[in-house]
Amino acid sequence: MPNKTAKPQKKTDTEIFSEKKKKEAAVTKNTEKTKSKSAASKKTAEQGNIQVKTKTGSVTAARKKNPALARTTKTTVKTNPLKNAVRIIFLGGINEIGKNLTVFEYNGEMVILDCGMTFPDADMPGIDYVLPDFNFIERNADKIKAIFITHGHEDHIGGLPYLLKIVNVPIYATGLSIGLIEGKLREHRIFKNAQLHTIKPGDVISAGAFSFEAVHVNHSIPDSLAFAIRCGAGMIVHTGDFKIDNTPIDGGVIDLPKLAALGNEGVLCLMQDSTNAEKPGYTPSEKKVGETLEQLFIKAKKKRIIIASFSSNIHRIQQIITTAYNKNRKIFLSGRSLENVTSVSRELGYLNVPDGVILSIDHLKNYKDEEIVIITTGSQGEPMSALTRMATGEHKKVTVGKNDFVIISATPIPGNEKTVANTINDLMKLGAEVIYEKSLGLHVSGHAAQEDLKLIMNIVRPRFFIPVHGEQKHLRKHAELALSVGIPEDRILVPELGSVVAVSQHSIKTESFVAAGKIFVDSSGVGDVGSAVLRDRKKLSTDGVVFVSAVSDLYTGGLMAPVEIQTKGFVFTDNANELNRYISETCEDVFDRYMRGVEMDTNALRQRLKDAVAKAIFEKTKRSPVILISVFAV
Ligand SMILES: [Zn+2]
Ligand SMILES: [Zn+2]
Repeated sequence: MPNKTAKPQKKTDTEIFSEKKKKEAAVTKNTEKTKSKSAASKKTAEQGNIQVKTKTGSVTAARKKNPALARTTKTTVKTNPLKNAVRIIFLGGINEIGKNLTVFEYNGEMVILDCGMTFPDADMPGIDYVLPDFNFIERNADKIKAIFITHGHEDHIGGLPYLLKIVNVPIYATGLSIGLIEGKLREHRIFKNAQLHTIKPGDVISAGAFSFEAVHVNHSIPDSLAFAIRCGAGMIVHTGDFKIDNTPIDGGVIDLPKLAALGNEGVLCLMQDSTNAEKPGYTPSEKKVGETLEQLFIKAKKKRIIIASFSSNIHRIQQIITTAYNKNRKIFLSGRSLENVTSVSRELGYLNVPDGVILSIDHLKNYKDEEIVIITTGSQGEPMSALTRMATGEHKKVTVGKNDFVIISATPIPGNEKTVANTINDLMKLGAEVIYEKSLGLHVSGHAAQEDLKLIMNIVRPRFFIPVHGEQKHLRKHAELALSVGIPEDRILVPELGSVVAVSQHSIKTESFVAAGKIFVDSSGVGDVGSAVLRDRKKLSTDGVVFVSAVSDLYTGGLMAPVEIQTKGFVFTDNANELNRYISETCEDVFDRYMRGVEMDTNALRQRLKDAVAKAIFEKTKRSPVILISVFAV
């Protein structure tokens, strides 16, 4: 099970599926061949590393689901290409919120806008990241002139280290984004050769047949940009992720006058953030949260305050720090991503922190509860996050009790409701007071709602409209909004993943599809499997293997029967029964502690069982056999 908050960063070897395989996947006529290929790799994988096997399976599954790929094979007739058109190739961020990657092409020259990643779903065991498929970029590497970045969120910059290994072209982004990108490239040891350029709103940069003009927007991270993208076919406005904040924490209000000026100049096409296209009204200002925090700090009285938030929400963290400072409390950070983003933002001047306000969590015990604010990751109830570990009593530095006042300053992302609820329940069981209600104004979105979106459409007045950055339902809703402000239906195009959309002064259409899907990355690259296998073999030869299988009830999460334990080469005859019983009890304990009413997360469960069984065996026998866990949900 990959640990989302603490990934092994040193290993840069990543397994990106070979171009050859991808091409085969794109041409599904060759299904037989692909099948036998994956069967072959499955076989080798089984001999070596179990994760590889799962990975192959996932890739196949993901490709099957990708409608764009299916379309590629069906569409044999090519439509006539539009004359003097700009082409927009959607390699990510469409029908999903994550891994944004868009390519613009004019006259044979290309530029890339954003290159993000997504965190894996629960059904991708052993996977650390999900990246866009770079096949199209590999094939056109010589045509690519530059990469432009809208802002520093993972779904916009997370894929850059992998992209740069394919095309090392200049990257243009604002100061904070460059700072965050720099950290990533250093981890991957490719910083030295990277060409990073810091830009600011108002700058115009030419790259091949294009020029990009940076426009300031509001979002949940400072220094976010929209771009006016000009080429011989006309001007495209891409909003990036944005909201309209009339009282922003810093950086000023979104540059509406500039957007209006672009509208006057004449906009060929508007590409706009669809994340909140289903939300009526206007998105409130981030300032609202500051007011709420102020009141909650008063309500907390002499209790210790623990606040969970998104680590990248610098504005939120700024407001927590300011409030804490005003109330004479010190700040302690828990969670690696939070510490990272906070230190980069501080260094570059995006976070204003008076000296001595943020302290190391090791000094927590030197302060009274009423002097403490702990900011933590885990607002989504992620299994390995700091807040979840606090809730389950596994956090090394923070023990939650009656004198804790916990504020969850984020709303659950759809799909995370159950894990968040479970964390809240656990915290309450420990005696903590937990504040999480949406209605209290603990969180506001970083994305524009319906009225905001319509406003931008009205001041930009584009000829054509493409909704981007959203799942199908967001894109469709956004298209309806465009209709409602008077953009004709034949001038609105909802793209698919892999679409090549051509836009000219006279028309817009999808011309073809390219391979676009998911590429899985795990931290143990090809080179590392060897040493892992060796390590396992070593363990096997000295301590043998213990195999534990559990059958769990899919609905209640409970154990259906006592766990089954088998051993091979693990000799322990003295008290074998007693040891088996002890392992059984350990497993039951894990089920009791983590499975109550939670949505089944077999990866997290398997990892927890493995850790607990390893600990139990070592306690009783001082040996470390290889432990294999299988969990069946029925
Ligand atoms: Zn964003
Ligand atoms: Zn985004």
